[in-house]
Amino acid sequence: MDRLIYVDNSATTPVSPEALKAMEPYFIEGFGNASSLYSVGRKAKKALEEARASIAGCFNAEPDEIYFTSGGSEADNWAIKGVAHLMAKKGKKHIITSKFEHHAVLHTCAVLEKEGFEVTYLNVHHNGIVRPEELEAAIRPDTALVTIMYANNEIGTIQPIPEIGAICKKHGVLFHTDAVQAAGNIHIDVKAQNIDMLSISAHKFHGPKGVGALYIRKGIILPNLIEGGAQEKGHRAGTENVAGIVGMSVALKNACDHIDEKAARLSKMRDRLIDGLLKIERSHINGDREHRLPGNVNMCFEGVEGESLLLQLDLRGVCASSGSACTSGSLDPSHVLLSIGLPHEIAHGSLRISFGDQNTEEDVDFLLQEVPKIVNYLRSFSPLWEEIKEGKVHFPINYD
Ligand SMILES: *Cc1c(COP(=O)(O)O)cnc(C)c1O
Repeated sequence: MDRLIYVDNSATTPVSPEALKAMEPYFIEGFGNASSLYSVGRKAKKALEEARASIAGCFNAEPDEIYFTSGGSEADNWAIKGVAHLMAKKGKKHIITSKFEHHAVLHTCAVLEKEGFEVTYLNVHHNGIVRPEELEAAIRPDTALVTIMYANNEIGTIQPIPEIGAICKKHGVLFHTDAVQAAGNIHIDVKAQNIDMLSISAHKFHGPKGVGALYIRKGIILPNLIEGGAQEKGHRAGTENVAGIVGMSVALKNACDHIDEKAARLSKMRDRLIDGLLKIERSHINGDREHRLPGNVNMCFEGVEGESLLLQLDLRGVCASSGSACTSGSLDPSHVLLSIGLPHEIAHGSLRISFGDQNTEEDVDFLLQEVPKIVNYLRSFSPLWEEIKEGKVHFPINYD
């Protein structure tokens, strides 16, 4: 095998050479603690504050509204638990989210339910999109928080965030969005879109792993996440990951500065791959085609196991995913695919291809050449496929 084709950029991305280069000095000569007063510490502090301002600029936020975290999961946990505990004091113990959020959101909501909070899980329908009117109908006088992801990590569907933000503002409910998949791929403006809190993670946009941020609109004072030193204004203590934060800011700036050309390039690759793979008999695209992340392809091939497809792709040097990276290894079908009404048998057979900066049209050529061959091969000894072809089984898809 002469080359590796990495098309799993929704799981993680390689660090860009620019981000790596920007990080390097902070490991050696610039290793100072950003809280120290001598010059090597002051330089680290300056780099930290420049990174904060640059990150804020990508979302039209203010620098002092950006709090550094260890990643997307931490940011989601802080926003949701923080608002829940803050608003519970005012008697508001109801949260609205959707059925297909990342587990960092869903499992946090489940913990809060055990603490006595009530959670409404909105339907995302067959297209994988929350309906604003259903969100508005779910808001109650005791609703503390709405948390809806910007774009889904499995099927790439983009949610109507400006509409959701406007509804939350109208009803005086706080609005958090997990923008981990959207950041660097879609134009985000926290002011224009009425977003109160927003989570990002560097390793999803060609920055390093283990670093992220939570935007918290000025005036919202969440309970501290970590007690200790005065870092992050005392709200999230712990010596800052200066190199990681610098890497995150450079990667994000690079993505935001080239967002339109990146989207144009990736969506062209995405559309060519989808059109080509849809020519395979009994293949389906999961999630809305139009409101979709530029680099996301998610498809099912009836009678084919997702895991078998991945193993065959791996033999050919292709790294892809079926469902979410966090649940692969378990035999449970993806909660995202079930949430859009796919039956279990089909939800097991999904393939997610997600493109990033390093991918090219040649990668698409290779996938278009290999995937149909693999599907045919796997179907050739699938008893289920025989039954599907003979019309003995068909999978009802719930088009609600
Ligand atoms: C990856 C991801 C996360 C988790 O981010 P980490 O930095 O890995 O903790 C949260 N939400 C979404 C939508 C993601 O894709």
